[in-house]
Amino acid sequence: MTVSQTGPATPDTGQAPPMISLRGVDKYFGDLHVLDHIDLEIPRGQVVVVLGPSGSGKSTLCRTINRLEPIDAGEIRVDGTVLPSEGKELARLRTDVGMVFQSFNLFAHKTILENVTLAPIKVRKKDKAEARANAEQLLARVGIAEQKDKYPAQLSGGQQQRVAIARSLAMEPKVMLFDEPTSALDPEMVNEVLDVMVSLAKEGMTMVVVTHEMGFARKAADRVVFMADGAVVEDTDPESFFTAPSSDRAKDFLGKIL
Ligand code: ADP
Ligand code: MG
Repeated sequence: MTVSQTGPATPDTGQAPPMISLRGVDKYFGDLHVLDHIDLEIPRGQVVVVLGPSGSGKSTLCRTINRLEPIDAGEIRVDGTVLPSEGKELARLRTDVGMVFQSFNLFAHKTILENVTLAPIKVRKKDKAEARANAEQLLARVGIAEQKDKYPAQLSGGQQQRVAIARSLAMEPKVMLFDEPTSALDPEMVNEVLDVMVSLAKEGMTMVVVTHEMGFARKAADRVVFMADGAVVEDTDPESFFTAPSSDRAKDFLGKIL
């Protein structure tokens, strides 16, 4: 498989390590080679949109970066540190990586505020008042301040997903992974979630975003990584990807979605 390595302009990171680095990562599910020797370096502050047909390994890529899935070969570093495969150190380092899924997974029997303060208090051992103040600030930032005493079921899908983003941010992650964060939403709610993601990108968060929202990719992405059959097939800037994809797989993919 040919890999296009035109590459996006990467900011000068000086001596700092890439925020995310995958080297020779392989992952199998039985005989299925789901991640096929992935090499990927993501500098601090970069927003990478991951595209590819269903089953190409996008979710697995996100899950391995967060160590929700073990890998079979290679190495993954976040901010220069190799994530161990298990143990206490993993739990701590995992909080460096926030993840937002298609399903919001809020705690149904906790209020919105409690959803956002729970992990900072339990895992980060934050003082309750401090966690609460921080959560209120984050909820305001995602436009949910008034709903803080409600329960998840009382909120719309778009609101719940914004709470899920606030909940991730409450752990002060260095990186945010989004796996199809708007795919389960009614169309009229997609933009309110994308807007929060765009502002997060502008604030300099390092982000990996799996999405079919091409508007977001064009507007907010510094880079597009296109996957097929577990491999990175193209890795370039959004403009080049959308106007002049170099592989047949990407041309075929764009032909179906655009
Ligand atoms: P994508 O997110 O691009 O649609 P996934 O990463 O979810 O792709 O899946 C990649 C491939 O791995 C698919 O063929 C999928 O069926 C398979 N797969 C994903 N998770 C598992 C699992 N837990 N066990 C077995 N196969 C899996
Ligand atoms: Mg997926």
